[in-house]
Amino acid sequence: MRDGQRLAERNGAVSDAIRKRPPFDKLEHKRLRADRFLQTVDDRNVRVVERREHFGFTPEARDERTEESSNPDILRFAMPLSITWLGHATFLLQSPGGKRIILDPWVTGNPTSPESAKKLGKLDLMLITHGHADHTTDAVSIARSSGAQVVAPYEVSVWLGKKGLQNVTGMNPGGTLNMLGLSITMVPAMHSSSIEEDGRIVYLGVATGYVIQFESGLTIYYSGDTSIFGDMRLIGEMYRPQIAFLCIGDLYTMGPEQAAKACELLGVKQVVPMHYGTFPALTGTPAKLRELVGPKGVQVLELKPGETAS
Ligand SMILES: [Zn+2]
Repeated sequence: MRDGQRLAERNGAVSDAIRKRPPFDKLEHKRLRADRFLQTVDDRNVRVVERREHFGFTPEARDERTEESSNPDILRFAMPLSITWLGHATFLLQSPGGKRIILDPWVTGNPTSPESAKKLGKLDLMLITHGHADHTTDAVSIARSSGAQVVAPYEVSVWLGKKGLQNVTGMNPGGTLNMLGLSITMVPAMHSSSIEEDGRIVYLGVATGYVIQFESGLTIYYSGDTSIFGDMRLIGEMYRPQIAFLCIGDLYTMGPEQAAKACELLGVKQVVPMHYGTFPALTGTPAKLRELVGPKGVQVLELKPGETAS
């Protein structure tokens, strides 16, 4: 009898809670149901762009971050994700667990490369999306000087091996690597992949992108060079990235219009634009992207080369 009463009271409280719950859209509903943890993290990822010219974190930022987090899984990681743009499609990331990761390294001959890109120091990991020179020119030299393990599409990995790099893992879209406390999934991209050597084009397999899940559960999608494609919706559904790094320069890749639609397919609320402004031909701008996604509640994290968001 008493149990029956308690059950009735509990059921009453539950229906009250359901009645009081604010309405939310279908995607949000799916996310809540599928993974409450990620939903919590969703409110905690990169919010503020800090105009800083150095890598890493200020102790104040660390403390504030730790205090504001109420999730014990996040508390285990003292640092938020740090994102430094090194111009074009090159980024230096510092993971919540302190891993230093470089994406598509291009410093030599990159007109937007900041001074800081020349003194990267030790790195844990390098991810390469495809063979084009604006994504691989400094792969060998930086991997050697930094000690980074390299992950690349299979044919690019073989090509890097022929250049003398030994710590290279080749993979193909669909594969996931669990390493260094991270989960790295290679995903498709709609682009070409080749390098010019001795005046000839050498083809290097398919172009790719990456989904990276960090130690804290925070997940990002790095598109590589690509046009928009419908399976970005699948990437959104399966991996629920909170931040998307999207090319917006146009001509060789998506422009702002396609990137705006990509945000919708991926279900992200934060986007880091890349692959724009390097040459006059890359005409897409973060301002145009903001104009398109701002009204939909998507934040554009616009960095200048050398700047860090965390
Ligand atoms: Zn490119």
